[in-house]
Amino acid sequence: MSNTIFQLMSELKHEQVVVCNDPHSNLKAIIAIHDTTLGPALGGTRMWNYKSDDDAMIDALRLSRGMTYKAAISGLNLGGGKAVIIGDPSLKSEALWRRYGRFVNSLNGKYITAEDVNTSARDMEFIHLETKHVTGIPEYMGGSGDPSPFTAYGVFVGIKASAFKQWGNDNLSGKKVLVQGVGHVGQYLVGHLVEVGAKVYITDINETRIKETTEKYKVEYVSPEKMYDMDIDIYAPCALGAVINNDSIPKLKCAVIAGAANNQLEIEETHGRELIKRGIIYAPDFLINAGGLINVAAEAGGAYNREKVTNDVEKIYNRLLEVFKVSEKDNIITQEAAMRIAQKRIDDIAVVKSRM
Ligand code: NAD
Repeated sequence: MSNTIFQLMSELKHEQVVVCNDPHSNLKAIIAIHDTTLGPALGGTRMWNYKSDDDAMIDALRLSRGMTYKAAISGLNLGGGKAVIIGDPSLKSEALWRRYGRFVNSLNGKYITAEDVNTSARDMEFIHLETKHVTGIPEYMGGSGDPSPFTAYGVFVGIKASAFKQWGNDNLSGKKVLVQGVGHVGQYLVGHLVEVGAKVYITDINETRIKETTEKYKVEYVSPEKMYDMDIDIYAPCALGAVINNDSIPKLKCAVIAGAANNQLEIEETHGRELIKRGIIYAPDFLINAGGLINVAAEAGGAYNREKVTNDVEKIYNRLLEVFKVSEKDNIITQEAAMRIAQKRIDDIAVVKSRM
């Protein structure tokens, strides 16, 4: 890492980073706590076979910062945190999760964990044996289960608001939508889009998921290589980050980009500007993929009510319209507009909390 960890933490404004090591269970974890002004830092635990410890650290720092903004713009009283576990997800074990749970517990609720890439409700169940500071636990244990349906619903709501901005109405019937990645979130999103009569195309690299989704929803598959040949209205990235980049932008034939993947813009300002130049509406990822967080936040707060969560997720629509307004008024990219709105809330509450 050319920058020291303290330089990076200062640049990104992190409060605390906890490095956890347990050779017995092969646990190597980094818990990054970005900002707890609004409340305890809530964010999932990702398990990934990182090429290096530096890559894992950078990912944890970047993702936890994103969680701060996601919670803030969503009106939640939560801070931003995220954890990464370095290792092959196929080797995860009860011992690893329980040891990790004890590390989470040692933070006394300053960090609350949940599922993320390569971690499941079953893994949260093991963590829950060692700490109460975990959400997304299975429904039979009193939790709210997989948050992905809520993430997908929020993305769907965000697509509608983006359509309204681009075409003056949010009717998606007949609109051509490409969903990239039909995993936990993408599959549910396809369901919502098909239900309202959109013409849905999917792309993925996992044969089983392609088969399941095309059969269940009668949608058309496009290979990842061919997806840029498609003339579509809406592109919904639901697989990987950094898909909006120098390579992809000139090839994109769409009017709206709105999807679940985190950090879609490879270089925020540069690529956000390019999209504006091309008349493409971009829905900030951390705003429209907040449905899952809104759901686990309700679970963490107790008195969980599915209907209330659904209503809260629907607020993404108006929040996004507000972001579009600020972006136009201040001539800034939508990602920046969303961050400013989020940061203003954090700053305002910091002042509120500093006074009697
Ligand atoms: P997932 O792993 O279940 O699904 C991702 C899908 O993308 C898989 O089917 C995978 O095969 C596919 N994929 C991978 N590489 C691809 C490629 N090159 N081209 C096409 N498809 C490819 O993940 P998920 O939980 O559905 O999350 C999707 C995205 O949304 C991730 O970026 C995640 O960080 C983000 N997200 C998820 C949630 C949630 O609630 N699950 C919440 C917020 C953000």
